[in-house]
Amino acid sequence: MKNKYTVLVIGGGTAGIMTAAQLKKKDKNLDVAIIEPSEYHYYQPAWTLVGVNEYDYAKTRRSMQSQIPQGVTWIKDYAEKFHPEKNTVTTRSGSEIAYDFLVVAPGLVMAPELVEGLTDALDKGVVCSNYTDPENTWRVLQQFKGGTALFTQPTTPIKCGGAPQKIMYLAEDYFNKSGKRKGTDIVFATAGSVIFGVKPIAKTLMEVVDRKDINLRFGYNLVGVDGQENIAWYEMADHEKEYNHKDVKVIIDGKRKGIKFDMLHLAPPQAAPKFIRESPLVDETKWISVDKGTMQHTRFKNIFGLGDAAGLPTAKTGAAVRKQVPVIVENLMRLMAAKGLSDKRYDGYSSCPLVTDIGKMVLAEFDYDNNFTPDPKLKQLLIRDSSKEHWRLWMLKKYILPYLYWNKMMKGIDV
Ligand SMILES: Cc1cc2nc3c(=O)[nH]c(=O)nc-3n(C[C@H](O)[C@H](O)[C@H](O)COP(=O)(O)OP(=O)(O)OC[C@H]3O[C@@H](n4cnc5c(N)ncnc54)[C@H](O)[C@@H]3O)c2cc1C
Repeated sequence: MKNKYTVLVIGGGTAGIMTAAQLKKKDKNLDVAIIEPSEYHYYQPAWTLVGVNEYDYAKTRRSMQSQIPQGVTWIKDYAEKFHPEKNTVTTRSGSEIAYDFLVVAPGLVMAPELVEGLTDALDKGVVCSNYTDPENTWRVLQQFKGGTALFTQPTTPIKCGGAPQKIMYLAEDYFNKSGKRKGTDIVFATAGSVIFGVKPIAKTLMEVVDRKDINLRFGYNLVGVDGQENIAWYEMADHEKEYNHKDVKVIIDGKRKGIKFDMLHLAPPQAAPKFIRESPLVDETKWISVDKGTMQHTRFKNIFGLGDAAGLPTAKTGAAVRKQVPVIVENLMRLMAAKGLSDKRYDGYSSCPLVTDIGKMVLAEFDYDNNFTPDPKLKQLLIRDSSKEHWRLWMLKKYILPYLYWNKMMKGIDV
């Protein structure tokens, strides 16, 4: 193995592979390496469907080897320490690898330790998460016999912010079809003050909430999960409010409220990986400090950061990565040719495919200012208004997007 590369990429996930593949498409002789420890690459967006038995988990996983673009060196190791002053990265096995340009995309990690009791409770008994084990979500849904089905999310940023409510809509559909809906109260508790930040999407989702008779609780900051007593504990924000009240069991303990549940689905708190949080690359938020238009590091000009680990003020999704990569690739090509940065800017585009029933979906696409920005290409699918539920959007989620992911995006084709 060499110990110097023109472009060194950290992470072989959605962002790392897409970047390396697009770079190689621009110049097949470019000297690119990826540091990535995992044997497998996952298509995580389908985990929502796995949670309700609408997708096979095995199909979301492919060998990492099969995804590393041709001609790119795979360094199967963990990146551990950054030395930006000498343009090197040290790996866990002790190699020091040098670069001209560095792309940092190691994703994020689950941090259940930030919620009291969650490390012990997660994926045990009736506590499940599509973020950690979507097949277990399906087991929990099947074993649920009625009572309070609680869906919740943490106060930290999370990847795919819509995922904690998507599984709720799908679960409601499943409860209906399996005859469990009648004896069930469905509760969604969130720290936020609205169901979704993009107005036309929020309007549709409130109609879904009404149709499905869901109890919404806003201003609920998750602070504890008691997996013995099945209670989720919250500290209440000033903007606490409730919509469509249901008389579920609530325990008051000083400033805290506990919701007793018979099943709980949650997104665990999430954070940048420890080696990033402790590196010179982060700002006070502990995410990689990058310019929000170019994704160039704010201090080290030959370093770029993207994907879930980047401190960008938009939703952390694969869809966002899809729009970030071409900007970084163009800038890298120009910098390598000593031409300076291009005018191309990332506008914060992200998207969230909100499945609202088995067979229906709404597609939230938006920018840094939460403007609704639907892709004109949706017209080709005969979808006139993607802020409304549509069965064709479900087909997009279940069949078209996984196909495009594996066959186009991972191959460096900008779709
Ligand atoms: C349940 C769920 C539903 C989702 N739904 C959607 C959706 O519908 N639409 C959508 O667009 N997005 C969705 N996402 C989010 C999407 O999967 C992520 O935003 C996307 O994968 C981010 O890409 P990334 O490359 O930053 O991180 P990842 O794809 O997670 O890849 C990070 C890579 O870095 C590697 N790595 C970690 N540490 C190191 C290290 N020390 N050294 C080297 N490599 C390291 C990891 O092994 C991994 O391969 C969903 C995610 C989940 C969990």
